[in-house]
Amino acid sequence: MKTPVIDLAECILCEICVELAPQAFRINDADFVEVLPLDDYSDEDIHEAVKNCPKDCITWE
Ligand code: SF4
Repeated sequence: MKTPVIDLAECILCEICVELAPQAFRINDADFVEVLPLDDYSDEDIHEAVKNCPKDCITWE
């Protein structure tokens, strides 16, 4: 199963991923986007979030 991974060096904290797929992405207390642990990242919302990241800094591993 593939997991989204965020390149934090590129992330501009626009929160688009958080808005589109709050079940998978959140801004943590340190003000970084983090990927929440899920059994399954196949949700269309999550794929939309990855596609819509303006910095293309979410990849699948
Ligand atoms: S959409 Fe991309 S640039 Fe925006 S907060 Fe999420 S990971 Fe960062």
